[in-house]
Amino acid sequence: MSTIAIFGSYVLSRRDGAQEVLRDHWVLLEGRQIAAVTRDRPSATEVFDRPGRFVLPGLLNLHNHCFSEAVARTHTEDGNGRRNNQSIVYTVLLPLTKRGADLLSPSERLAIARLGILQLLKGGATTVMEPFRNTIPEMFDAAEEMGIRFYGAPYLFSTSDAKAGPDGVVRYAGDDGQADMDTWNVLYQRWNGRGDGRIGLAMSPHATDTCGPDLLRACAARARELGVPITTHLAQSQAEVATIAGRHGGRTPAEFLDWLGLLAPDLMAAHCIASTDSDLKLMAARGATVLNCPRVFARSGVTAAFGRFAGHGVRTVVGTDGYNMDLLGELNAASMISKIASARADVANAPELIESVTATAAAVIKRPDLGTIAPGATADLTVVDLTHPHLQPLFDARRGLVALGNRANIDLVIVDGRVLIDAGQYLHGDETAMISAANAAIGKIWDLPEAQAAFNG
Ligand SMILES: [Zn+2]
Repeated sequence: MSTIAIFGSYVLSRRDGAQEVLRDHWVLLEGRQIAAVTRDRPSATEVFDRPGRFVLPGLLNLHNHCFSEAVARTHTEDGNGRRNNQSIVYTVLLPLTKRGADLLSPSERLAIARLGILQLLKGGATTVMEPFRNTIPEMFDAAEEMGIRFYGAPYLFSTSDAKAGPDGVVRYAGDDGQADMDTWNVLYQRWNGRGDGRIGLAMSPHATDTCGPDLLRACAARARELGVPITTHLAQSQAEVATIAGRHGGRTPAEFLDWLGLLAPDLMAAHCIASTDSDLKLMAARGATVLNCPRVFARSGVTAAFGRFAGHGVRTVVGTDGYNMDLLGELNAASMISKIASARADVANAPELIESVTATAAAVIKRPDLGTIAPGATADLTVVDLTHPHLQPLFDARRGLVALGNRANIDLVIVDGRVLIDAGQYLHGDETAMISAANAAIGKIWDLPEAQAAFNG
């Protein structure tokens, strides 16, 4: 069995259920498990003995859209692509990703998926959850071949073409989403458990305003029959709040999901920025989780404060959504935006944010073997190089990581005992070739008249 020993000037461990930073320890991996955390140097077939490293449990990024982000990259910043102040989700991202997925060949879609997975790994994540159009099954192929731990979340909609009308509202007419449920079931049969268990699925009804009550109930029933997590988008905008109130007897989006029985510990709800305080109290009482992605909203001038959700007692984790895939950068933004929003310096502190992408995120997906460094845990690690000039001298490793760290400081990414990233570089493929193949495929989408109109019109 292959063994790997990694030296950490700092090792994020746990004692009595709380974080503890060990100084000058070794982490020993045996095959796919963490075998020991020791003061003495263990013998191993491969040894990483580098100074100033912070050895963390593999980070979990439970909400990302690496495919659609690539499609929109640098087109949607600074307000570009917005019409009448509508969300670009329904005017640009969903329609263009659908059109692009239909236009491209499987190998072209695979090229974009590989770029996305590469970006997620280099952003420090070992486990990701990616909601995506079910016409891009190549996300699974890329995840399996590249070695990441991947929860694919192919969307279900109550409409075959989720795009907004001139008023910004997505309409559907009696569609129960059966075709998407059939596709989800086919993908589940094909992919769940592949890659020695690295590949899984989450049930992913897209959002409260694109899915009707029958589809949402069917999604919950199927997910609970299989024991898979449920993820959706909730209270993403005031327009969604108005749509749901009009359609469903004045309910808020959270009340709508609660009425259908979805608000529960197996639900991960992305964003919730238009939730009321009483919605958040309800979510806390039901044990649901908020997926907080502050930077994608900051880009649009909208506050998505981790501290607001956590302050209401809602289980809250940080993800990158469709903007950059730098999980360390996202933690920094979660800290800063929470402090600005509350006018307090002590909210969203470093240990709390690190917990959100390690032990808390692992608990959300019922994977106590992840998000922790302990004998018997799964051998997923993220190792950060704290020797950079902007991190020296260093008094507190966790504060250094959250306040000053970013993806350029990622040294090693190890999944299932396999080193995927070393010295910040992907080991199992040519990064330059992967980038140029994805660029060529995305260029075809950017050349579409619809894309030109959406981005430049
Ligand atoms: Zn999202």
